[in-house]
Amino acid sequence: MADRYLNFTGTAPGRFLTRRLGLPQPAPLRRWSAEHPHFTGQLLHFTAGTSAYRKELSEILSRTGLDVRGSLSGTDTDRPVGVVVDATAVTGLDALAEVHAALHPVVRSVAANGRVIVLGAPPSADDHHQAAVQQGLEGFVRSLGKEIGRGRTVNLVRVAGPVTAAESTLRFLLSPRSAYISGQVLAVGAEAAESTAPDDWEQPLAGRTALITGAARGIGEAVATTLARDGAQVVLLDVPSAEADLAKVAERLGGRALPLDITADDAGERIAAFTADSDGLDVLVHNAGITRDRRLANMPAERWSSVLDVNLASVLGTTDTLLKAGAVRRGGSIVATASIAGIAGNTGQTNYAASKAGIVGLVRSLAPRALAEHGVTVNAVAPGFIETKMTAAVPLFIREAGRRMNSLGQGGLPVDVAETTAWFASPGSGAVNGQVVRVCGQSLLGA
Ligand code: NAD
Repeated sequence: MADRYLNFTGTAPGRFLTRRLGLPQPAPLRRWSAEHPHFTGQLLHFTAGTSAYRKELSEILSRTGLDVRGSLSGTDTDRPVGVVVDATAVTGLDALAEVHAALHPVVRSVAANGRVIVLGAPPSADDHHQAAVQQGLEGFVRSLGKEIGRGRTVNLVRVAGPVTAAESTLRFLLSPRSAYISGQVLAVGAEAAESTAPDDWEQPLAGRTALITGAARGIGEAVATTLARDGAQVVLLDVPSAEADLAKVAERLGGRALPLDITADDAGERIAAFTADSDGLDVLVHNAGITRDRRLANMPAERWSSVLDVNLASVLGTTDTLLKAGAVRRGGSIVATASIAGIAGNTGQTNYAASKAGIVGLVRSLAPRALAEHGVTVNAVAPGFIETKMTAAVPLFIREAGRRMNSLGQGGLPVDVAETTAWFASPGSGAVNGQVVRVCGQSLLGA
């Protein structure tokens, strides 16, 4: 369903009227397109404190193709498309003030749809001064995300190990692919899967096989399309009753269809058998999900169990089977689908929120072991309000609230979740593990 309000505010009378009434001014978001895959222009690179990463980071930023500068130059027509502030070495309040000093004079100049990225370090368990200011960066980023407007986003990247491990994350954030991610903390760990930066950042999944559940429509179809764009051979799984739609998606993407109910007892074995001829899988995307909303007092056991079966039990079961069988190759990744409902809770969704919070628990617990034992990363996307058939069916006022109650003032698109999945799945993201990243435009729910 089209966002008529967003279209209206894009017209001159619409802008005039909504401004006069003090209504939200969502900016059209720039997303990836084959014609315009990258941002171009100036990128400001500042350092707070004395960071050991300065030179390496500058090289990484230059590889994005942006014109990296240490200070603002040019005219108003040449606004920077991004600002990166390296605050990894910030251990006290003086250095924290340098973050303010760096951004205060330039923040207004950042182009519409531009990016502000603060690089931080994990808060220390031994140094409470460092922990205080590093945690302070989170509050700073989340607040700036709420006030910056014009489709601009603000995120914190916490780097625990070598800064080179953050290249895929920085490239993702500094591209139109991350349009609907704002106010988030993305952690790049010290431990990495045995994967290397891709030879070709435009085709990072070349030679890799990805299986996506729930791929006949909606977000799953978008994930399959995006992973195929990035070079993956895709295997598309959905319920047998969706076989016709599934076949169409498979044909369009040159992939293979696997009609299968993911709650079947032998689903894991069947996936392993189906993908054995490609020597297994590199990317496993648990996207299939259902809702059966009712307040708890009115929720029969069947509504509870059907949601838990599809959204959580099948993810636990197939993941265990496939990892045990060695069906997910080393250097591969598992991406599950949570939801902001699993973080914030939602009326009528005790079943759904329990299943999605369960995904968060699964990811956090399994990720370190899956990396140590199988060389596989485990992460989750947590979508907010995404424009799909599911959300088009939501009553008008609740739908409008879902769309507007976030910093970007609009709903996300399935492709926003897909791009985030592709970033997790990239072999360059081997140090991104155990993360739950919200793709929600900085939704107020559960923020
Ligand atoms: P959708 O209903 O459009 O698509 C879900 C797909 O999963 C369908 O093709 C369906 O046939 C398939 N599926 C359902 N049960 C299955 C089973 N037992 N076996 C195999 N396939 C099965 O939903 P969507 O909006 O695209 O959502 C995709 C995922 O994102 C879900 O996990 C959902 O909970 C999550 N999510 C969506 C939103 C949103 O705003 N749309 C927000 C947060 C989370």
